[in-house]
Amino acid sequence: MNKDLEIFNRIANKLFEAEKQEGVVKPVPFETLKKVLDLDLDCAAIDDDIFEKALTDLVLSTPRTSTTLFFNQLFGGRKGKSSLGELLAVLLNNSMYTYKVGGPMIAVEKNILNKISELVGFKTETLGTIASGGSMTNYMGMMMARDKYDPDFRNKGQQVPLVGYSSIESHYSIAKNAAFCGLGRDNMRYILSDECGKMSMEDLVEQIEKDIADGKRPFFINATAATTVLGAFDPLLEISKICKKYDMWMHVDGAYGGSVIFSEKYKHLIEGAHLADSFTVNAHKMLGTPITCSIIITPHKKCLYDSFSNDASYLYQGDGDDINPGKISLQCGRRNDALKFWTLWKSIGTQGLGEIVNHEFELADVAREYIRSNPDYTLYSFDDSINICFNYKNISPELLCNQLYEEGKLMVGYGKFKGQTFIRLITVNGNNSPKDIEEFFRILEDFAENKN
Ligand SMILES: *Cc1c(COP(=O)(O)O)cnc(C)c1O
Repeated sequence: MNKDLEIFNRIANKLFEAEKQEGVVKPVPFETLKKVLDLDLDCAAIDDDIFEKALTDLVLSTPRTSTTLFFNQLFGGRKGKSSLGELLAVLLNNSMYTYKVGGPMIAVEKNILNKISELVGFKTETLGTIASGGSMTNYMGMMMARDKYDPDFRNKGQQVPLVGYSSIESHYSIAKNAAFCGLGRDNMRYILSDECGKMSMEDLVEQIEKDIADGKRPFFINATAATTVLGAFDPLLEISKICKKYDMWMHVDGAYGGSVIFSEKYKHLIEGAHLADSFTVNAHKMLGTPITCSIIITPHKKCLYDSFSNDASYLYQGDGDDINPGKISLQCGRRNDALKFWTLWKSIGTQGLGEIVNHEFELADVAREYIRSNPDYTLYSFDDSINICFNYKNISPELLCNQLYEEGKLMVGYGKFKGQTFIRLITVNGNNSPKDIEEFFRILEDFAENKN
């Protein structure tokens, strides 16, 4: 292993150097990978030099999501202390189902969950877990709601005609999860959004009333904080009132924007989150931990057990349920996704996490300011969001994004809202500076001028 760590250090240093010198990588077309990289798996062993060269080439040809020029998705950047935690979690290789195998890491995870519960503002104790991404924590939220409103579902299959609600702008995992839960995709209603991308409360109520009149049983509303394309926050207080009135489960999909709980300045965006029945947040998005670190908490402890526990005498030997989180998790073997968040949080404090969030919003302000003060740009998105959606000089956003990627200049994607397509810049890399944002526009403009 020591020799392998030396290899690790050599490759890591080359990667850091390449990140600095080249930014994002110039992509190798899939058809030519075979020629450029030594990927084949052969019968015989190879010697360490050849192995190291193959691995180095592979690493250096892989998209670099931690550079200042990666704006493609809702994550980016690298937090050293968090990567350190992740590397140690890999070396330790625990599984988080029992205290016997997870040891103090179980307490590390519990501390994170309890602190998040406090920050969201839940008035009663909550219970939670970490799953392999926001799609899966959203799934857990929907499962708990399903089993609460149709307790026989898990044994007998569907008995009650359940219908759920989510904004048309919400994450696609909601539709998949409706299928996974056995509800059927057609039993999720997608509610129109207003002009800023927030779920329309009028349409929501109208649809619920219609479903009730049709003999359906509304059971679940997914509120999004924030949406994938525009970064819009659904009005949680109003949604919670509707959930109360119609006796429905309120799930907050904060996979993306839930991290505003750390910021005094921006937590008002999720006012009412403490009224939720379940709340999810991904630390691997705004907070920059390595992928994945997705948390779900619920004040309905019993629901978490009811939906996810199962006895297994070969696994649960000794220790109570409260320190055997396998009883409340989606999977059996489970990575230690807690440590990388704990190492970051421990090192910079809750305040430091808040500063990361504030900084990302400041970068978004810089970007919007730039766009607003430059007549060659059209802005399509709104304040209080780290998604900046725009077009440049009527140039096709698809074309521009694809060409920038193909030539290895920078990585940014495009999105759609109400029929309009635009470039979607995400200022989610907390390591970036305002200069990096200006550099983004400079590269984009230079590139567009030279291409046209
Ligand atoms: C990213 C995201 C998800 C999915 O999270 P994964 O960790 O990628 O599975 C769900 N909802 C929203 C709003 C997201 O932005």
